[in-house]
This record gives sequence, C-alpha cells and structure tokens, in this order.
Amino acid sequence: MAQILSGAPAAEALTAGLTVRSRELRERGITPTLVILRVGAQEESRSYERAAKKACTAAGVEAFTIELPENAHMDAVLHAVRSINAEPGVHGALLLRPMPFKKTERAACALMAAAKDVDGVSPASLAGVFTGSGGGFAPCTARAVLELLDYYGIDPAGKRVAVVGRSLVVGRPLAMLLMARDATVTLCHSRTRDLPGVCRGADIVVAAAGHAGLLGADCFAPGQTVIDVGTNATPEGLRGDVDFAAAQGVASAVSPVPGGVGRVTNAVLALHTIEAAERLSKN
Ligand code: NAP
Repeated sequence: MAQILSGAPAAEALTAGLTVRSRELRERGITPTLVILRVGAQEESRSYERAAKKACTAAGVEAFTIELPENAHMDAVLHAVRSINAEPGVHGALLLRPMPFKKTERAACALMAAAKDVDGVSPASLAGVFTGSGGGFAPCTARAVLELLDYYGIDPAGKRVAVVGRSLVVGRPLAMLLMARDATVTLCHSRTRDLPGVCRGADIVVAAAGHAGLLGADCFAPGQTVIDVGTNATPEGLRGDVDFAAAQGVASAVSPVPGGVGRVTNAVLALHTIEAAERLSKN
C-alpha cells in the first residue's frame, strides 16, 4: 500500500514556522496583512475565502475582504486594485476567481502590483516564475505541490516528472518551479498521445487536469509518487483527478483529495503574504 501524503501535517509544519516570522514582523510594528477582493458572492469563492482567512489567522496574518457587487463595473474593480496597490498597510492581495466578467478579471490581474501579488496572477509575477528572476510570487497551488514534496522528503532533482495540465494557474508555473529544482519535466495536456504511458514512465506524476478520476491504474508504476491537484465536485463529493484506490495499489506514495494539496495551498497563501511583508519592509 502506498504512503498517503496528507496535506495537514505539511500545512501545520509550515504554519508553525510562519507564526515565528509574523511575530518578528509585529515586533517591528508591521502587521502582515492580506486583502481578499471578491466580486459577487459565489459560494465556491466564499468557501475558499473562509479557508484562506482561517489559514492566515493561524499564521498570524491579518486578512480582510473587500466585497464588490456581482454587477460591479470594471472601473470599480480596477479602482479597488489600485487602492490595494497603493495602501502601505496591505502586503498581499488575493483576487478571488472566477470573477463574473472575464474582461474585468484579466484587467484586474494585469494591474496587480507584483510585490503584493501573492497568488501569482499578474503577467509580471508569471514572468518572474518563468525567468527565475524572483521578485513576484508563484501561484499558491504550484508552490504548494513543492512544499508537500519537500515535507515528505521527496526531492524532484534529477527525477522525471509528468505534469498533467498546462494552465497558467497550475501546470505551467509548476513545471517551471520543478525545472528550477532540477527535475526533468514533461508537460501533458488534452492532446498528449499515450498519456498513461507518459505517466507510467515518470518518477513523479502531478495531476492538474480538472477531470475526476482521469488517471487510472494504467497510469501508475511501482516506486512512483502521485500528487493530485484536481478538485472536482461530483455527486459523491469532492474528488481528485487520480483514481486514489488504483494509485494506492501501485505507486509508493499518493496525495489524497480532499486533504492533500488544497490544505497546503492555504498555508502557502499565508507564507507568501509574510514573504511580501518582509520584502516590502526592507524597501
Ligand atoms: P484548466 O484551466 O481547466 O486546465 C486544465 C488542463 O488540463 C489543461 O491544460 C487541459 O489541456 C488539461 N486536460 C484536460 N483534460 C485532459 C485530458 N483528458 N488529458 C490530459 N490533459 C487534460 O484547470 P486548472 O485551473 O489548471 O485546474 C486543474 C485542476 O486543479 C482542477 O480540478 C482545479 O479545481 C484544481 N485546482 C486545485 C487547486 C488546489 O489548491 N488544490 C487550485 C487550483 C486548481 P488543454 O490545455 O489541452 O486544454
């Protein structure tokens, strides 16, 4: 049976280190602060917001919400982003997505100051991840995968990693982070030929495709680590992209859904906010 890579202990260890850093900041008169910008009141966004705030509170990060109505004009949303960028008491910002209007969402992401863009949504942040120049932040989920691997002592250096999914939110930035850690990465997508064969040939498989149970027994091999980023609402509840029982029967280690990467993602949001506060306080 494979080892279960539960997110809870990884998130708890991360948070324990963060409470020390947030205390040090507070002793210098700096309260690490995250603003969550929500347009509308979709239950999915609200539930993510609650989880984000809980993780921030546990780490000593102040978190508050700016809420705009569902039909907010683009100007109002951009005005909110500009005021977040300009407010010295705010160190990090999370734009809850999807916003009701794609065009507004794109403009808001583009306007976000890279120094406060703790979920890596702006082109400037992604440029930093892709060039390795630092300065901005990677999307929290991408970094959460590395934090989970690190917690369980799984070093991606020199390993073959198959990342299934090439979105700008997860797959692509994650591929860059893994390459920066000396992994040999194959980035798979819906047109990849023989996906099971590509996955079987990898030492680490990361599933981020958004299809419940997409990766079945034919995708796994003994000795492998399988990380499931997928979160899919199904009539049976939340499910990952990995057939968990199949992976558990073949691979060496597998992360569950729920209770895997998602749990670490919230802790990374607090980590990025503290890093942002530390960097901004040095300027
Ligand atoms: P997305 O934007 O829809 O991208 C999905 C990617 O998967 C695309 O690159 C797509 O390929 C690829 N794909 C789809 N079907 C495939 C198939 N049958 N075979 C191979 N590749 C396939 O989704 P996303 O925003 O990246 O999210 C992916 C999953 O992660 C979702 O379940 C989402 O809920 C979850 N997620 C979890 C967290 C967390 O913290 N745990 C955070 C963010 C997202 P093409 O490019 O060819 O279309």
